[in-house]
Amino acid sequence: MANKTLGLDARLYDYLLGLGLREPPVLARLREATEREEMAVMRSAPEQGQFMAMLLKLMHAARVLEIGTYTGYATLWMALALPDDGEVHSCDISERWTFVARRFWEEAGVGDRVHLHLRPALDTLRMLHADGAAESFDFAFIDADKIHYRDYFEGVLGLIRPGGLIAIDNTLWGGAVADPDRQDADTRAIRAFNDALHRDSRVEMVMLPVADGLSLARKLPSPNPLP
Ligand code: CA
Repeated sequence: MANKTLGLDARLYDYLLGLGLREPPVLARLREATEREEMAVMRSAPEQGQFMAMLLKLMHAARVLEIGTYTGYATLWMALALPDDGEVHSCDISERWTFVARRFWEEAGVGDRVHLHLRPALDTLRMLHADGAAESFDFAFIDADKIHYRDYFEGVLGLIRPGGLIAIDNTLWGGAVADPDRQDADTRAIRAFNDALHRDSRVEMVMLPVADGLSLARKLPSPNPLP
């Protein structure tokens, strides 16, 4: 996995960040704090966070669902892109990482917008469904354990409104998805997910070489025949 855009050498990536990124200072501080954590590579790339923030604004999104909070870096990009009454429902199982997250959400003044659900995400998705949240979210970001990607996508799809967007992270997986020698469980799970998404007539989709591969799926009002 990678937390910067694949295939760019260091000089060009520095250039991209230098002239492409307008990262608010609180997000820069959270990124620095995350660098000190053992799983820092799980943090989303800054250019990706900024891209998703722009998508949210283009969509006038107010309700966001996130599977995989980690230290809340992508969460914070998204929360800052929402109107005052917007909500991010973010799912994770780690008290420790989300402790860092909460501190920075408060510091950024968006603590009230973020609802953290600390239990297995599939349970949270079922609970949101049972609470009447079906088709109530504008945007979702899936970036958690890869083995469950297909299950997360199914659970999230029911909670997204028609016309809403699901972003799925790490779909190029450092290039391993295209390497036949890579047969570990995570790589196989992402390959299976990518294959299923490509054939899924309930959504329109694109696969972007942003960060570690970012796929976007837009939910259709009713399934469309595929080309
Ligand atoms: Ca990721």
